[in-house]
Amino acid sequence: MQRSYDTSLEDPASRRRRRIPATLDPGRTLLVSCFDAALPLERMGLSARGVSCAQVRSPAHLVAPWSDKIASENAPLLLSLSMRETHDVVICGHVQCAALEVLLDEERDRGAFGLMAQVPAARATMDLVRRNYGGLDRESLREVMAQENVLTQLDHLLTYPPLSRGDGPRVHAWLYDERDASLWGYSFEESQFAHQISLR
Ligand SMILES: [Zn+2]
Repeated sequence: MQRSYDTSLEDPASRRRRRIPATLDPGRTLLVSCFDAALPLERMGLSARGVSCAQVRSPAHLVAPWSDKIASENAPLLLSLSMRETHDVVICGHVQCAALEVLLDEERDRGAFGLMAQVPAARATMDLVRRNYGGLDRESLREVMAQENVLTQLDHLLTYPPLSRGDGPRVHAWLYDERDASLWGYSFEESQFAHQISLR
């Protein structure tokens, strides 16, 4: 999965610096994912002996950029990071997503679209995709939206103090594609979703 544009924020490359390790410890991992993502956690290495990793779920796994002035928006994620020993944070999007469909089609559910459009973290992805990918067909747009949303929310995630420090948990960006049960890992070196694993 190649990104067509480098749409990064001012200097995320230096913050998106960590590699995907061979294995994660589910007991020390926090998963940030979407409310409707049917993720095969066991096969993803995020569940062991029937016990899943800690999870923060929301529509389109939106992450409010860090601000110590807006504690109410940042508190759930910050508390999740600080109340439990965390070695790895995985932000994982998915392709067949009800929340992203709302962003792709304003007419589909105007009420939900109106709500999401008021959330700055959702607007960031929507504006970026509209600006850069106007000519794509619907299926390609769906895939691009899912990729760009992972990377946009990743940039927001990396503004949180526990993750912006050099000695904090490792951060991983993944995308699950339900169409063929494949899991893509983002390569920080190659700036694309380069590592594919089949989870069939
Ligand atoms: Zn979803």
